[in-house]
Order: sequence, then C-alpha cells, then structure tokens
Amino acid sequence: MALQIYNSLTRKKEEFKPINSPSVGMYTCGPTVYDFMHIGNLRTFLLSDILYRTLVASGYKVKLVMNITDIEDKIIKRAKERNITPSELTSKYTKAFKENLQKLNILPADVNPHATEYISQMVEYIKALVEKGLAYEKDGSVYFDISKFPEYGKLSGVETRELKTGTRILSDEYAKEDVQDFALWKAVDKDEVGMMSPWGWGRPGWHIECSVMSQEQLGETLDIHVGGIDLMFPHHENEIAQSEGKTGKKFVNYFVHGEFLLVDGKKMSKSLGNYYTLCDIEEKGFTPASFRYLVLTAHYKDQMNFTWESLKGAQTAYERLKSLVSGVAQSDRTVLSAEKEEKIDEYREKFWAAVNNDLNMPQALSVVWEVAKSNIPSQDKRDLILLFDEVLGLGLGDVRKDTDTDEDKELSGEVKKLVEEREEARKNKDFKRSDELRDKLQEMGYEVEDTPEGTRVRHAKK
Ligand SMILES: [Zn+2]
Repeated sequence: MALQIYNSLTRKKEEFKPINSPSVGMYTCGPTVYDFMHIGNLRTFLLSDILYRTLVASGYKVKLVMNITDIEDKIIKRAKERNITPSELTSKYTKAFKENLQKLNILPADVNPHATEYISQMVEYIKALVEKGLAYEKDGSVYFDISKFPEYGKLSGVETRELKTGTRILSDEYAKEDVQDFALWKAVDKDEVGMMSPWGWGRPGWHIECSVMSQEQLGETLDIHVGGIDLMFPHHENEIAQSEGKTGKKFVNYFVHGEFLLVDGKKMSKSLGNYYTLCDIEEKGFTPASFRYLVLTAHYKDQMNFTWESLKGAQTAYERLKSLVSGVAQSDRTVLSAEKEEKIDEYREKFWAAVNNDLNMPQALSVVWEVAKSNIPSQDKRDLILLFDEVLGLGLGDVRKDTDTDEDKELSGEVKKLVEEREEARKNKDFKRSDELRDKLQEMGYEVEDTPEGTRVRHAKK
C-alpha cells in the first residue's frame, strides 16, 4: 500500500507520487535562529522527520533540504540588544537548534542552506520577477504585486476580494487581513545590516529565501514542502506566488502542514509563562525521547495539548518499551511456528497500514504495543519493534551514549557519499570497488549491511 498524505493544496488525502521516483525532493522550512526553539516548533520538525523516515523506509531516495534563516529583522534587533554581531547570535542558536534535533533523534537534512549564502541568487530571482512585471520597486524596496498573480490565496484560502492592491507591507509577518503586496527586498538605512543591490542598500524579505534556496537545491517543482500550519499564510502563500510567478510551473506537489501544539489548552506565549523549550523538559527530569514519544501519540493534523502530566505518561510508556527491547538477549532465538510467522506478517501489515494512512502514528504506536504484549518469541518481538523504530525514531535499540560528537555529525555527509558510490558500484557489478568502499566505511567505524532495500550503514556500537 502506498503512502496517503493530506495535501493542503487540494485539501484532501492523496496517494503520494513523486515526480521522479524513486527520487524525492523534500523541503522543510527551517528555523529563524534568534532564540531557542519552543516545543511547538519542535513538533513540526518531528513531523518532517517522521515523513522523511517513512519515505526512506519505503525505499525512496529522499533529498531533504532545510533552510537556516540567519538574516531577518528579529535577528538584527536581538543582536543589537545584546550588543553582539548578528552572526554571533545566529551561530549560537544554529548550534542549539542542531543539538535539539540530535537529542530528539531527528535525522539531519542533506543540506542546510543558510540565507546569508544565497543573497546574490535572491537578487537575481527578484530581478527576474521585476522583469516579468510581477514585482515593482518603491522607495528602494521591491514588492510582489499580488494582483498580477490571480491564483494568490489558493493554498490558504485568504479572501482575495479583500485584496488591497497598491498597498504594501514591509514586515515579514502580518495578519490574515493584510492581503497586500509583500516585500521581496527591503530598503534599510545605510548604518543597518544590509548589502548593496540594484535597488540600493537593503536586505531580502523572509519569504523569498525559501523559494530561492528550495529551487536551487531541488529544482523548480518540489515533491513535498513541510511546515507548521502557522506558515501557511502568508509565508507559503507568498512562496507559491513568487515561485510560480517566476517559473510558470507548479512549485509544490504536496504541501504538508503540522498543527499547533497547545500547553494546558492554551496557545504558548512567553507572557503566559507556558512557553517551553527542550531545555525546560530536560530540567524537569524528562528525556527528549519521552517528548518524541508524546508527539507520536497525537496525529499531526490534530492540535496537541501538552501537559506535564501527559509527558510523564509518555516517559513511563517509553521506558517500558525500551526495557522490553533491551531486555532481550541476542541469543535466545527460537524456531518460529508457521502460525507465529503469520502473526508477524500481520503486525507488519498493520503497522504499515497505519503509517501509510496519512502518518497515523497513534495507530502505529498501538500496533507496537500489540506486538509488545503478544506471545511471539521475544527475539522476534525485539526485531519487529526495532524495524518499526526505523520510522518511529525512538532510538529503542540505542545503547550508545546519547550525544554524538561534532566529528560524527560532520562524517555523515562523507559517509553518505561513500554509500551512494558503493551502491552505484554494486549496480554496475563492480564488486572490487564495492568491497573497497565497504572496507573504507568499516575503517571509519561503520557497519555495512546489504539488504534488499539497499545498503544499510550504521555506526558500529562503541
Ligand atoms: Zn519557508
């Protein structure tokens, strides 16, 4: 059964069909690195990770791109307040963000483009929009003229009859009522952080960076674009207008949006004192894995209500599952009866039916518990649950220390390249080369296993 996923563009569940199977291009809107992520943000990145893992486990070759917004009004304001440079501020929070992902067992993206590295491409992109008559300059800023893009509003459903043509909005964030021309390039004072452009000193708007970086990395049409529901308008609506206006092609085939996380039934806010980060969770004695488990207990399209009580429940359930898996010795394998083998197949099917049904993780977790409580041999129980964990990402089989070193992280890109090279060699029946590459990977401390789905590499247990 193929993956069915809810597409915000069509407002219905659809079978996922990539443009160029088995390749999949996936883009997730990344963080603006001016502060620690709150747990609502982290829920969105967990959705992206579950989807990514699901696709990989289904045999797709996914290229995941996640941008880092390191130039933006909030960044510049905060750096000024703290009397440091914007890059000092952004490098601190980029590091913190990546640590969060690692702690939550979120697989790293293949590419993390930084906005500051794509300014010249953004300028070119904006120039092209001006040349096509879709954007115009006014007082050193450049605006997208939404009246020139009749499909404006097709994603979020904002009423285009409220469209205020000729009025302009310079801020990156605005209310739903503000259906107005938005800034692609913002003029700023000479003494402010900025760069020179054909329109003078300024800096890019937030929306343009996602169009530019996603297309630079993945081409003009993306298979999947993921983000929080709060990004649907104006951010994603504007991304569509810019991108489709420029290329004349569909920008995204499947738009996937994760719902809000509430705390004690209320929207999180610093003023209410219910604004939490992963640090807060750890300080209260909970593990990041318990938070991941908790997130899996709610469907991504439902609002999730976070309470400390619910996190406690998740921690207990998670610990029980983990000890069940780690309590099984490697050696007590028994011969399966045909009846039990049938049972295992049945569980596997049920698990995948849940995952493929629009990532129904609460259902998938209930299958995990069915397996845990079943009478199949404990070794098979363990193997099956660990197989499911490739999608769940709970790290149930991890006995390794929780945090990888920076060196490990940097290796992963190189390792990936070697694995790809080795797969190519195997495809071409160049076994000498493929053996050489396997030796190299082993030397680097990785276990290499050839499976029907391709090469699987994991860090050798330390
Ligand atoms: Zn974005």
